[in-house]
Amino acid sequence: MSKITSLHVVWLRNDLRSYDNAALHHATAAANDEQNSAVLALFIATPKTWQRHDMAPIRQDLLRRRVLQMQTELASRNIALMALEASSYSDCAKIFSKLADAGMVALYGQTEYELREQQRDKEITQQLQRADITVNWYDRLCIMPPGTILTQSGDTYKVFTPFKRNWLSRLHEQEIRCYSKPKASVLVDVKQLMQQLGVKEMADGDGCSADWPVAEQQVLDKLRGFCQQQVADYNDKRDFPAVKGTSRLSAYLACGVLSAQQCVNRLQMEAGPALEREKSGASVWLSELIWREFYKHILLAYPDLIKHKPFQAETAAIRWRQNKTLFKAWCEGNTGYPIVDAAMRQLNDTGWMHNRLRMITASFLVKDLQIDWRWGEQYFMSKLIDGEFAANNGGWQWAASTGTDAAPYFRIFNPVTQSERFDPEGDFIRRFVPEIAHVQGKEIHWPHKKSTPSGYCPAIVDHDEARKITLAMFTEVKKSDG
Ligand SMILES: Cc1cc2nc3c(=O)[nH]c(=O)nc-3n(C[C@H](O)[C@H](O)[C@H](O)COP(=O)(O)OP(=O)(O)OC[C@H]3O[C@@H](n4cnc5c(N)ncnc54)[C@H](O)[C@@H]3O)c2cc1C
Repeated sequence: MSKITSLHVVWLRNDLRSYDNAALHHATAAANDEQNSAVLALFIATPKTWQRHDMAPIRQDLLRRRVLQMQTELASRNIALMALEASSYSDCAKIFSKLADAGMVALYGQTEYELREQQRDKEITQQLQRADITVNWYDRLCIMPPGTILTQSGDTYKVFTPFKRNWLSRLHEQEIRCYSKPKASVLVDVKQLMQQLGVKEMADGDGCSADWPVAEQQVLDKLRGFCQQQVADYNDKRDFPAVKGTSRLSAYLACGVLSAQQCVNRLQMEAGPALEREKSGASVWLSELIWREFYKHILLAYPDLIKHKPFQAETAAIRWRQNKTLFKAWCEGNTGYPIVDAAMRQLNDTGWMHNRLRMITASFLVKDLQIDWRWGEQYFMSKLIDGEFAANNGGWQWAASTGTDAAPYFRIFNPVTQSERFDPEGDFIRRFVPEIAHVQGKEIHWPHKKSTPSGYCPAIVDHDEARKITLAMFTEVKKSDG
C-alpha cells in the first residue's frame, strides 16, 4: 500500500462478474487515469440480513463460492477483491467509514431495487458524500431500466403484453452495449489492508452448491451453448420438466454472474433473424427475459410489494387457511399428487425447480389447499438457488390471482391433467418419487385409482371439492368489492 494514495472501491453485490460490469469498468478507467491510484473490489457477506430475507443456504453458498472464484479471476487482471464477513447491512456503514480513512476517493456499484437495499445505499451515499467521496451507481440490473418503459400517460405498465411491445420497440432502437473485461495497473495488498482496517475475512460456505459451476468463463460458455444448440427448440421443450429444455441460467442472472445484456447480446448474435419470428424459440426466450424486467419495474413502482401486500388490494380480504399440517405435506412433497410431490422434492433436493412446476405447485398450495401464497413465497425463497424477490413475488402473485396480470382466479390448474400434459410418460415423476416408480403407464399421474401404492401417501385433498371452495372464496371477495 506504500505507493497507493487513493482507492477506487467497487462494491460488488448483484453483479458478480468481471465482463460487462459497469462499476468495475468505470473504476478502473478512473484509477488508471490517476497517479498512485488503485481499484479495490469489495464484497461484504451479511448472513444475518440474508437470513432475514429468507435467502436459501444454497444461494448463500453459491455467492461465497463465486466471490472466491472471482478473487482469482480479478487478481489475474491486477484487481484485488477484498471479501469481508459482516453481520447485517448496518455493518456496511462502519466498513465504509474505515475505507474512507484508508484513502477511498470514490465508490462504484450497481443499483439494487429492493426497499431495504435502496435505503442502505442512500444512507451510505450520504455518509460518503459528507466525506467528499464520489459515489457512482449504475442502473444495469435491467436492459431497459425502470422508468424507461412507461405507458403513454407516464405510468408503469401493469399488464405484460403492452410492456413487452414497448420494450421490444426500444430494443430495436438501440444496440446493447456490454463492457469489456477491466484491467487495472496496480494490485492492492488486501491482507495488509484488512489488517490495517481491522476487518474480518469472508468465511467459506459449506459447498452445498457445488453442482453449480462458478467460473465466469464456464457460465458464459453455458449461455453460448444454450443460444447455439438449444434455444431453437425452447418453445417446444420449455414446458416439459423431464427434458433439459430451458437454460438453467436463473441462478447466475440472480447473483449477476451473467447480465441480461450479455444474454440478449449473445441471443442476437446466435439466433439472428429467428428473433424476429413471434413463436421462435429465440423470441420466446427473449420474452422470459422481458418478464424478468417486467417484475423488477413493478417492484420499484410499487414498493409495498416488498411488504408482501397483494397487488390487487381487494384480495387482501381473502381468508387463507392457516393449516400447518397441509403446508408441511406440500413442503415435503407428500400431497399424494405425484407431479406436485416430484416438483417439491426437486426443489428440496436440488435447490432449483422447473418453471412449469413452480406454476403447478404454487397453484396447488393456493387453490387446492387455500393456503396463503405468502407461506409458499417464503418457502420457495428459503430453498431456491435463484431466489430473487421480484420474480418470486411476481410468480406467486400470478399463481394466487392477486398480482399484476395474474392468472384469472377462476382458472385453476388441475394437477393431474397438468401432469398428463407436461410429463406425459411420467419420467420426471419416477425420478423424484421412487415409491411409485413401478407404477405403469398413465396411472403414474393418479396412482390412487384402485388403492394407493404402499409407501406412497394418500391424496391430502380432493381437487374438485377444493376448486369449488376456492372459487367461492374469490367470488365472495370480488362481490364485496362491488
Ligand atoms: C411461483 C414462482 C416463483 C418463481 N421464483 C423465481 C425466483 O425466485 N427467481 C427467478 O429467477 N425466477 C423465478 N420464477 C420464474 C421462473 O420459474 C424461473 O426464472 C425459471 O424457472 C428459471 O429457469 P431457467 O433459468 O432455466 O429459465 P429460462 O426458461 O431459460 O428463462 C431465462 C431467464 O428468464 C428469466 N425468467 C424466466 N421466466 C421468468 C418469469 N416467469 N419471471 C421472471 N423471470 C423469468 C430468468 O432469469 C431465467 O433464467 C418463478 C416463477 C414462479 C411461477
